[in-house]
Amino acid sequence: MHVKRYYFSFLFILCLFSFTQIVNAEDEDNIYDERLALYKKTETLTQIPWYYIAAIDQYERQVQKDLEDDQLISIKFPEESWFGVGNSSKVKDSRIITMFDGKGKDGNGDNLADPQDPEDVLYSLASFILEYGKTEDDIKIALWNHYQRELAVHTIKNTAKVFKKYQDINLTKRDFPVAINYNYSYRSTWGDGRGFGGRRIHEGTDIFADYGTPVKSTTYGVVELKGWNLYGGWRIGIRDIYNIYHYYAHLSGYEDDIKVGQIVEPGDVLGSVGSTGYGPPGTSGKFPPHLHYGMYKDNGYSEWSFDPYPYLKKWERMAKNN
Ligand SMILES: [Zn+2]
Repeated sequence: MHVKRYYFSFLFILCLFSFTQIVNAEDEDNIYDERLALYKKTETLTQIPWYYIAAIDQYERQVQKDLEDDQLISIKFPEESWFGVGNSSKVKDSRIITMFDGKGKDGNGDNLADPQDPEDVLYSLASFILEYGKTEDDIKIALWNHYQRELAVHTIKNTAKVFKKYQDINLTKRDFPVAINYNYSYRSTWGDGRGFGGRRIHEGTDIFADYGTPVKSTTYGVVELKGWNLYGGWRIGIRDIYNIYHYYAHLSGYEDDIKVGQIVEPGDVLGSVGSTGYGPPGTSGKFPPHLHYGMYKDNGYSEWSFDPYPYLKKWERMAKNN
């Protein structure tokens, strides 16, 4: 009897839990829809392509630390730049801000340039870019002048490319990096000591599989790097739309059409499992065949490795449920 009651309350909690998950997923879809509508409205007003505005906002969402989870947009102007030097009482009247040479502009027609209003902020950003022009090259120069960092410009440009291709920003599909209908095995090995190449830690997870097992992209992104590396052998690097760098090493070879600058999506075959590396180009067979999979996060200043294992577990589940 007791067992039964527990069983039912357990079921009830389980239902509640999955219900909240469904609700959360819906909220998430809503925020993507809301954002996309804002970006497209800004494009209508300024002719700056929406996918560039979206990519800048996305980049800011990844590099800023003090953001709320459900914050609609992440672009922020420093106060002085928004209100103008000398506008110390922070008057929001857009004509007064313009008089003080502030960047804040009124995007929704209420005559106020409010730094808390997403339409005003996006319109102000697009107007800032528009000072340079609206071609891709003009936008690149505007980005360079603002960020002064090659990787930031590069990441935003590539994210915009992905958004443009899929005509969407809600790109949450993922895949496991090794074809799951092949034999493979892996465990958490991030942070382990390494023998070859002096004192370094193992910056990834090794997925053991036979030669020739297809290696697939886990995310949407753009191929950033491809070729030989002393440790990694034939390797490939893909930066995703969240500014995370995914590193695939020891491949036996690449899929024919894979090249730097190319857009990939989850499940796209990149190459196959091998044992290349630990020597000059072509070196192979110094260890059992496996895919070394690494993930690196960038905060706008520097890049660091983090443990891919929990993500691999999650993507493996997603792949099996498909
Ligand atoms: Zn490894």
